[in-house]
Amino acid sequence: MIVAMQEGAKDDQIQHVVEHLVKLGFAVHRTTGVLQTILAGVGARHDFDIRDLEMLPGVQEVYRVTAPYKLAGRSFRPEGTVIHLPHGVKIGGNEIVVMAGPCSVESRENLFRDAEVVAKAGAKGLRGGAFKPRSSPYSFQGMGEEGLKIMREAGDKFGLLVISEVMEISQIPLMMTYVDILQVGARNMQNFNLLRELGKIRKPILLKRGIAATIEELLLSAEYILSGGNYDVILCERGIRTFETYTRNTMDISAIPILKKLSHLPVLGDPSHGTGRRDLVAPMARASVAAGADGLLMEVHPNPDKAVSDGAQSLFPAQFDELMKQLRIIAPAVGRTIG
Ligand code: PEP
Ligand code: MN
Repeated sequence: MIVAMQEGAKDDQIQHVVEHLVKLGFAVHRTTGVLQTILAGVGARHDFDIRDLEMLPGVQEVYRVTAPYKLAGRSFRPEGTVIHLPHGVKIGGNEIVVMAGPCSVESRENLFRDAEVVAKAGAKGLRGGAFKPRSSPYSFQGMGEEGLKIMREAGDKFGLLVISEVMEISQIPLMMTYVDILQVGARNMQNFNLLRELGKIRKPILLKRGIAATIEELLLSAEYILSGGNYDVILCERGIRTFETYTRNTMDISAIPILKKLSHLPVLGDPSHGTGRRDLVAPMARASVAAGADGLLMEVHPNPDKAVSDGAQSLFPAQFDELMKQLRIIAPAVGRTIG
């Protein structure tokens, strides 16, 4: 923690800041320059608001030099986290893991067709929402437990991991029965009660970045899960809301290498929600892999024009197949493999 005092700050103002830092538990080192006094607070406290210091009289600027998250930070596990899943799948290792499927589970027939397509193309996981967070209460809300059952059956038949969204605490036991990875959607990234409960379970969590969340906020949300003892957290960049209207969201590719640098947790890219447009999914998927993503989460539908949700951003099976072929060329160029 560095506190730069204003030029000409009075001694009693400097003393007041020193006392404040000491009260927070910092050891304070003072440097008096020709123009300015700099106070360096050394200590392990993370749980304070730097604005409290910025508001003290005589303070010019305050900088944190340590991150406010401990368990999610790269220094906690410099070698990186590798999550071990059924079928020998590892997320965060050398292999790029692709999980694909429809936005929502709509019917047994569609899901089985989709599962076959994505498995044949090389995906390792089957995605599909059984509980859907929809902007409108009148839109399809998902098939619920029936959808999860279908997901599990299709996953088992085609040797795919199953990933599906958990929207609230009461759904956790049901999810534990049917899925391999629980997804926390963008809208729930800061549902702190849900995150705390997910810290108590022992199944991997895929945590999506909120639509208006900073990278630090995403890491602090991961910290909620990790601090409960569940260390198997996967981060997911799925686009953020900006002033740009051409795309549904702005896919923040730079978040991928930034997260890899700041955290030891695996990072996936979701170019489907990241763009909202089928024609942009493949370019952003390629960019995600080139930028260092450990995997991809993508929407693929046997007949996207008839999809009940997110059809416009769902790939046709042939497009997905072609994309997987391209990723097999890109992955080795960045020192990775892909199934
Ligand atoms: C989804 O994966 O279908 C979904 C709703 O994602 P997000 O939370 O990123 O909008
Ligand atoms: Mn979707």
